[in-house]
Amino acid sequence: MSLTSNEQQQLTQALAALQQQIHDELRRHQPQYFQVEAGAGDDAIADVLSHDAVAQYLHQHTEWQALQRARARLSENVSDVCIECGETIPFVRLQAEPTAERCIACQTALEANEHRLHLHPHSSM
Ligand SMILES: [Zn+2]
Repeated sequence: MSLTSNEQQQLTQALAALQQQIHDELRRHQPQYFQVEAGAGDDAIADVLSHDAVAQYLHQHTEWQALQRARARLSENVSDVCIECGETIPFVRLQAEPTAERCIACQTALEANEHRLHLHPHSSM
């Protein structure tokens, strides 16, 4: 982990913003999950979100899964460690994509594989 505390702070805020975004989306698309909330504060949202139905819904939500992994990685101080090769993920990449868990080379390789395309791997450096 080579992130400074300031960088960790930025990442924490970026993940919090992302979580809020997912909450807002969930509230818009699945308002029934939020009936109990009735104008209460953030604590109530957290309570509502721990409800089974919501948990199940969010479990299928890939962004939410990515967010939870990113939070776990942040709490373990491994946010900038690529899960594939262990190389350091540049902080600019985490700024652009707070839930990134692979370095650019591994992400590129993964996407090339997923799309079954023969992209040029970033072999320079
Ligand atoms: Zn990597």
